[in-house]
Amino acid sequence: MTMNDMDGNQEKYPPWAPYALIMALLLLANLTIEYTTPPEPSYEIPYSQFKQLAEKGQVESVDLAGHVAEGHLYSSEAIGPHGETASHFSTQVPAFGDEALLPLLEAQGIELRVSDETGRTGPLSIILPLLPWLFLILFFFWIFRQTSRALGGRIGGPEELKKFLEAPAQTAEQPEVTFADVAGQDNAKREVTELVEFLKHPETFRKLGAEVPHGVLLMGAPGTGKTLLARALAGEAGVPFYSISGSQFIEVFVGVGAARVRHLFEAAKKSAPSIVFVDELDSVGRTRGTGLGGGHDEREQTLNQILAEMDGFSGHEAVIVLAATNRPDVLDPALLRPGRFDRHVVLDLPDRNDRVAILKVHTRKVPLGDNVDLDKIAAGSPGFSGADIKNLVNEAAMLAARKQRSEVLMQDFEEARDKVLLGTVRTLAIQPEERHRLAVHEAGHTLVAWFAPHADPLYKVTIIPRGRALGGTQLLPAEERHTLPEEYLRDRLVVILGGRTAERELLETLSSGAEDDIHQATALARAMVARWGMSDEIGPVDLRESEEHPFLGREIAQPRRYSEHSAEVVDHAVQTLLHEGEQRALGVIREHKTELARLIDALEEHETLHHEQIEQCLGQRPRVKH
Ligand code: ADP
Ligand code: MG
Ligand code: ZN
Repeated sequence: MTMNDMDGNQEKYPPWAPYALIMALLLLANLTIEYTTPPEPSYEIPYSQFKQLAEKGQVESVDLAGHVAEGHLYSSEAIGPHGETASHFSTQVPAFGDEALLPLLEAQGIELRVSDETGRTGPLSIILPLLPWLFLILFFFWIFRQTSRALGGRIGGPEELKKFLEAPAQTAEQPEVTFADVAGQDNAKREVTELVEFLKHPETFRKLGAEVPHGVLLMGAPGTGKTLLARALAGEAGVPFYSISGSQFIEVFVGVGAARVRHLFEAAKKSAPSIVFVDELDSVGRTRGTGLGGGHDEREQTLNQILAEMDGFSGHEAVIVLAATNRPDVLDPALLRPGRFDRHVVLDLPDRNDRVAILKVHTRKVPLGDNVDLDKIAAGSPGFSGADIKNLVNEAAMLAARKQRSEVLMQDFEEARDKVLLGTVRTLAIQPEERHRLAVHEAGHTLVAWFAPHADPLYKVTIIPRGRALGGTQLLPAEERHTLPEEYLRDRLVVILGGRTAERELLETLSSGAEDDIHQATALARAMVARWGMSDEIGPVDLRESEEHPFLGREIAQPRRYSEHSAEVVDHAVQTLLHEGEQRALGVIREHKTELARLIDALEEHETLHHEQIEQCLGQRPRVKH
């Protein structure tokens, strides 16, 4: 279904369609009048009575059609079975004929019209009454098309609808891309590599009774290569790739999405081993039943169908269902249950090294000038996604082409970078002046975490946006914790506040980037005070504002069950905790200014620092006492 042939059909209808409607209405009115005005009464009379009337000279004319004769009298006579008067009658002419009839009619001068058996026949008499309906149907079809165009061509004629429903069966493709085309993303690639083995040799796994997860959810910011990775997996394993995008399901016809899902899984199972890929899962998979009064029917049906299909796997089909989303936070929890999308693969925005690798992939076929330094380009494009980098290379090549050069030079890349930075509002690209602030902020978290005795050990720190929060200092809990000791929580509070404190201490201004930190810190402090009784002012009193609702599984607002005074005391205790935390963070930062400066420089240069690199900047971490 292309836009072109839709437009083509479009052109055919408008010129005459309105006239058709008018004609149809006129004809219809005409027919209605014909059928609804009561005809002059007419009675069926015996043949013998008809002959008597004729002999008496009262018959004016006769229409003979087969064995039925219809007659008109000169005037109304009492010919009804109960003496009703009428000037019309009909009668059955004997099947064996009546030789005396014709002479009688002639003698009386009665007009005789004869037609053949079917009455006022000819094919026209069948078509004519249908004509208005035909026009009406055509008209509605035209309206339908008009609407379809108004809705962006999402619905079409019946053939298109049919094609649309069956489309998935035909969209199996055999991607050419492999893991070699996916630069960086080592973690993500590692996680899906075992699936390649499974798709290549499903029997081996089956014989050993090993069950491979069916549902894999790819999560990551837009342009990080989720679609690319899914296709590369199919390419690597050499299996057919069936894909649909969640946004296609928001259709006008309820039930279409579910039907498509069913067709898609059917086809995929038939040609197993294979891959089903649901792109933009969040557009169908948002939490159901949000918004009072029910959600979007179509979406819900589609989502239910996906869930049903995933539950329908017997565990041995060699079909892997991949889904991609950049909003894992809004997904319906039902999608993430065991047996569904229970394996999660995170794709991060590339750091400097990965950006070099991506640049290499995308400049494979681009003739580069001698002065092009991919590492320098990578250093100058923090926060760019894989898609942004592809775009960057393309823009640079176009600039070179416009200048009639046969090679792409460094200045083309520089010019292109500004264009990408300016043009793409939606990307997470980091503006140069932001970069230093991000480094200071993250270094603040890291420094405090390093020197706070009870904080979790550091795993890595990066200024490349992770998920929905900017930057990220990743702490790795040393052991699984079931209860959280007070010192641990207090240190955690200090670490959370460390980023903001560093910004204020070194840059002397604050930014909105710490919003999430403040939110987290406040929530933590409030829980410590009101829930865990960790404040001397309050003691062990449960003063939670809201509770998890057992059925909704989330916090809902509830009437407060404690006094205004208690509320004030809680607020005060929370503030005290937060201020204490901030003071401690400030203390650590002032004490370790040189180390902090080293850390900031290293972060700005490398963007991501791992444990060893952090140690190089900060020295050995003081012994941790738990
Ligand atoms: P997503 O599905 O996560 O939004 P895509 O897979 O559609 O991102 O990425 C868009 C394009 O960006 C890809 O077709 C590819 O050319 C490029 N790209 C993204 N990530 C990478 C990567 N890691 N290596 C190479 N190219 C990439
Ligand atoms: Mg995509
Ligand atoms: Zn922070």
